[in-house]
Amino acid sequence: MNVLVLNASYEPLQKVDLRHAIRMLVREVAVVEEAEEGRMFGGFPVPRVLRLVRYVAMRWRHGRRPPWSKRGVYLRDRGRCGYCGQRGNTIDHVHPQSRGGGNTWENTVLACGRCNNRKGDRTPREAGLRLRWEPRVPRWEDLVGT
Ligand SMILES: [Zn+2]
Repeated sequence: MNVLVLNASYEPLQKVDLRHAIRMLVREVAVVEEAEEGRMFGGFPVPRVLRLVRYVAMRWRHGRRPPWSKRGVYLRDRGRCGYCGQRGNTIDHVHPQSRGGGNTWENTVLACGRCNNRKGDRTPREAGLRLRWEPRVPRWEDLVGT
């Protein structure tokens, strides 16, 4: 179940899961604007809508995709190589950079040194490698490092 978070100015910002919402209440960064009738969770009414206590300037969250970054790829892929699932530590360009592949969410995956070497300047198909997941644009929530 997702909870809508409003800015202090009442504009919608994003949706978060219930646990995240409750943590925001515990930390007193948000207040309940609308709750499920008669339902409680962790001592709080189960919120449907929260509102931030302080205004945050988050214009960049509106409809914009998160900007590409190496760290973002690492977080999105949860530290795992996109080809073998082992711990990854380099950025692989699915369509090689040397052949025009760019730094985009859809064209980059985290890779381990071994797979990255094996792939070289080839496409996964040419190198006989298979992506374990389709690289995609992450949600903002995916990029919150823990
Ligand atoms: Zn690998």
